Amino acid sequence: MQHTVYWIEGDGVGADIWKAAKPVADKAVQCAYRGQEEILWKELLAGEKAYVQTGEYLPKETLDTLKTAHVAIKGPLATPVGTGIRSLNVTLRQTFDLYACIRPVKWYQGIISVVRRPERVNMTIFRENTEDVYSGIEFASHTEEAKKLIDFLNQNFHKNLKEECAVGIKPMTEYGCKRLVRRAIQFAIDNHLPSVTLVHKGNIMKFTEGAFQKWGYEVAKEEFPALTITEKEVREGMDPQNKVIIKDRIADAMFQEALLHPAEYSVLATTNLNGDYLSDAIAAQVGGIGMSPGVNMSDSLAIFEATHGTAPNIAGKDIANPCSLLLSFAMLLDHIKLDKAANAIRQAIQNCIDKKTVTKDLAEEIENAAPVSCSSFGKLLMEEIEHMQF
Ligand code: NAD
Repeated sequence: MQHTVYWIEGDGVGADIWKAAKPVADKAVQCAYRGQEEILWKELLAGEKAYVQTGEYLPKETLDTLKTAHVAIKGPLATPVGTGIRSLNVTLRQTFDLYACIRPVKWYQGIISVVRRPERVNMTIFRENTEDVYSGIEFASHTEEAKKLIDFLNQNFHKNLKEECAVGIKPMTEYGCKRLVRRAIQFAIDNHLPSVTLVHKGNIMKFTEGAFQKWGYEVAKEEFPALTITEKEVREGMDPQNKVIIKDRIADAMFQEALLHPAEYSVLATTNLNGDYLSDAIAAQVGGIGMSPGVNMSDSLAIFEATHGTAPNIAGKDIANPCSLLLSFAMLLDHIKLDKAANAIRQAIQNCIDKKTVTKDLAEEIENAAPVSCSSFGKLLMEEIEHMQF
């Protein structure tokens, strides 16, 4: 069977990591399924490469193709800070309503971690991707728009905002929060995971973050009554057996919990800004975003992605680490039910870490490791896969 996978190379180190990772992905599918399953790669243009070839950063053809696609995977795309083009990543998320950003964070044995017990970290973060302060409604200080909004709020709602304020809006809907939490709970059920924790800042932002918590518990109670139980009910003596425990934590406390008691958390469901911070902070415990895969999903399209940026300082030098892209590809393979190939990629990465033959950034995190180039690392992974029993 052929599986069409659309791929976007990305800017900066995108070309380096794809050159190493794509043959590894093909090798894993080929060895695991002996020709019965095959990836049909179709390239889509975006970013600098698209601009050079078409004069557009996100060509219409790419957008049209993604409208009917189900699975895609991308390298990093550059976004200028403060000026220039709008973030292509944000445009993709908003155009295709990719409302769930999902990041599994797990430690690979051998990587030196900043924490003492990194093996206790095994969390999947579900971050709402389309609402919150990221919705782009912001007005700069001293502008006409900001002044109008400030006057309106001061006059109609008896607020006392200073005239020179910059203003941003934080819209959050019941629909948007519930679909994210629904997905997180379903994931926990499908993967036999013990809990889903709703992470919010509802003690301060009662009607946005507080509503996220309230709507989250409602989804569990109304849509998964037989399969979920709240932490409070467990404390009161109810039996949690075969049920996903729904907990909630205030965001600042969750950062502490993730460091002190990571084993007590398995799936986190959270709002856009909290999720952005939490994903990187938790990934840092297991060796940073270089080892973190991710996906942005709607109900019909999943765009998997390397979670790091374009790394302009090392682009073109053949020293980048392709693991984030490869682990994202493993997630993609799980998604299309080719889990034997997905596991082979993960195992090959673990084997190379065990043998201490890894790219420079990882070599710096492993005692007595010998750094290899990005392309050599890809070749070593392929050799590992060739020697595996399927
Ligand atoms: P970055 O992730 O590109 O770089 C941060 C540090 O990590 C650098 O030292 C870099 O060398 C290192 N690094 C990143 N990827 C690596 C890899 N695969 N192997 C080894 N080392 C790696 O972050 P930044 O410098 O903040 O951003 C650069 C550009 O990337 C910006 O334009 C930003 O908007 C964009 N960006 C894109 C995405 C995305 O497409 N998902 C994510 C983050 C940043």
